[in-house]
Amino acid sequence: MPLMNAPVTYHVTPSHPGAHIFTVTVTLARPAAEQVFTLPTWIPGSYMIREFSQHIVQIAGADAAGPVAVKKLDKRAWSVTGARGPLTLTYEVYAWDLSVRKAHLDQTHGFFNGTSLFLSPEGFADQPHAVTLHPPADPKCVGWKVATTLPRISGGPHDFGDFLAADYDELIDHPVELGTFEVAGFEVAGVPHEIAVTGVHSGDLGILAADSQAICAVFAELFGGLPMERYLFQLTVETSGYGGLEHRASTALIHPRAGMPRAGQTSRSDDYIGLLGLISHEYFHLWNVKRIKPEAFLPYDLSAEGYTTQLWAFEGFTSYFDDLGLLRAGVIDAEKYLTLLGRSATRVYTASGRLKQSVADSSFDAWVKLYRADENASNAMISYYTKGALVALALDLTLRQRSEGRVCLDDVMRALWERHGRPGVGVPEDGVEKIAAELLGEDLTEFFDLAVRGTTDLPMAEILAGFGVGFRLRPMESASDRGGKASGKSAEVLRGQGHLGIKTRSAEGGSRITAVLDGGAAQDAGLSAEDVVIAVDGLRCDGKLIEICAERAPGETVSLHLFRRGVLMTFTVTLGSPPDEVVYLELLEDADEAALARRRAWIGV
Ligand code: ZN
Repeated sequence: MPLMNAPVTYHVTPSHPGAHIFTVTVTLARPAAEQVFTLPTWIPGSYMIREFSQHIVQIAGADAAGPVAVKKLDKRAWSVTGARGPLTLTYEVYAWDLSVRKAHLDQTHGFFNGTSLFLSPEGFADQPHAVTLHPPADPKCVGWKVATTLPRISGGPHDFGDFLAADYDELIDHPVELGTFEVAGFEVAGVPHEIAVTGVHSGDLGILAADSQAICAVFAELFGGLPMERYLFQLTVETSGYGGLEHRASTALIHPRAGMPRAGQTSRSDDYIGLLGLISHEYFHLWNVKRIKPEAFLPYDLSAEGYTTQLWAFEGFTSYFDDLGLLRAGVIDAEKYLTLLGRSATRVYTASGRLKQSVADSSFDAWVKLYRADENASNAMISYYTKGALVALALDLTLRQRSEGRVCLDDVMRALWERHGRPGVGVPEDGVEKIAAELLGEDLTEFFDLAVRGTTDLPMAEILAGFGVGFRLRPMESASDRGGKASGKSAEVLRGQGHLGIKTRSAEGGSRITAVLDGGAAQDAGLSAEDVVIAVDGLRCDGKLIEICAERAPGETVSLHLFRRGVLMTFTVTLGSPPDEVVYLELLEDADEAALARRRAWIGV
C-alpha cells in the first residue's frame, strides 16, 4: 500500500540528540469526531507498569483548518474533538533510558521501542500503520544507519526510509536502532540473520556470528523450521548493563563489553558464555511467549496489568533451554553445562523466599514483586526464571525417566507450538500441564502441585541420581561464590566460618548492607538494609565485613559500628554458622548402566 494511503502514518526524527529528544508526528486521514490517542503503560515481555507517557514533553495538534486543542484525558490518553480532514499530532519524546525497554538517544546512537514513541489512535489498532524514519540533522550524527525488522517499503538495507506494519501490535514489536553499528550476517534454515552491534568494543563479530548461528540452528531443528522471514539481534555493549527483550523477528540486548569474543581466542570466557546464553534465551522466545502465548496475552491489554500464573513455563522453560541450547550447539561441554545448572540452582537455594512463594504465585505477582524486587526479596519471593528453570529440568528428567526415553521436554515444546503457537491459540492456565501428562500418558498432578503450586523443595537429588548426576549442597565459600563447583575447602571447614546472613556492597570505607537474610545472625541482632557498617571490634572494615566475620567462628560475638540514617550505632552480633545453600552437580562414578544411558541421551556424556 502506498504510504500516504495508510490510515495511520508516523514520522520519527531524532531531532535533538544532544537533548535526547525524538520528534514524532502521527497523522490520521479520517479521524473520529472525538478522536482518542493512547500510549501503552507496559511493553510485552517486561511485566511492569512503566507509564511511557511520562516521557512525552510537548504535544500539539493541527487539522486542515489549523491548530486544534489536544485534551489530556488521563495518564495515558489524549483526545481531539471535531477535527476536519487529516489530523496530525506532533510531540516530543525524551529518550534517555539505556535499557531494552524504553528509548535512548544521544549523539552516538538512538534506540526506541514503539511503545515509547507511537501514540495509538483508538479505533485503528487493526489497520496498517506506516512510519517514515528521518535521519538526524545534527552534524555529529554523520553516517547513521537503521537496524530494524519493521517491514521496509523504501530504501536499501540499513537506510532511513519508509516502513509499514500490518497493525499496531506489529508496529510496537520491531524496535529500531539508529547509528553507526557494526553488522555481521549469517543464515539459519535459509533465513537471513543479522547481529548489529552498538558501542565501543574490541570483539570479533565473526566468532560471535558463528556461535550464534550454531545456537539458532539447534532451535530451528527442535521446532522444525523458523517462524519468521528474517531475524535481527540488536546488541548494545557497554560497561555493566545487562538485559534482553524478545520480539517477533528481533531481540534487543544489552551486555557488558567484556562478554565480546576475542579474535584468536582458544576458549570461550565465562563472560562470553553469558552473552551466548542471553542470545540463546531471547531466540528461544521466538516460539515460547512470542508465538506460544498465555491466553491472558491474546490480545495484550497495554492499558493495565495482564495476569497469568504461567510465567514459570514461558520464562522458566526458556531459561532451561537457553543453556541446554549452548550444550547442543557445542559451544559448551557437559561439564560446563552442569556448572551453569548448579549456578542457576544456587540462585534458588540461596533464596528462602522459595519456601513462601510458589512459581505460580511468583508469575501472577510479577508486576508487583519480581519486577519491583526490594531488599527483602530473597526472604519473600522466588524468581519464576530460576525456579522455573529448575521445574523445567525436573520435568524434562521426569518425562525421560518415566517414559523410558520416549518423551522429553522437547516434545512438550513441539506440541505447544503445533497446538498453540502455529495456529495462534492462547495456552490456558493448565495447558502446559495437560500436554505434558498427555504425552507421557500418565497423571502428573502430583508433580505440578509440588513443582508449580508448592513451596517445598523438589527432590532434585533423587531425580538427578536417575541420570548419574549427584546434586550437592554446601555452604557458601565467600560473598562472590556463585556455586556450580565444589569448593577447595571441605564442608566442615566452610561450616566453621562465622556467618552474618547478609548481602553487602562496598561503601564509604565500610560495607553497606543490601539485604538481611531470614534466620541469620544479622537479623537476630537487628541489622538492617542500608546500614553502613564501618568497623568490626573497633577496626575499620573497608568493605570486607563478610570476610572479616568469616575468619571468626560460629558462636563468637563481634561488635559492629554502623551508621543508620546518619546516626552512629553499635550492635553486638553472635555469629551463626553458614547454611548448606550452594548447589553443584557432579557426575556419579557408581551410576548404573540405565542411569548412564539416560545421561547420554540427556547431555551426551
Ligand atoms: Zn526471557
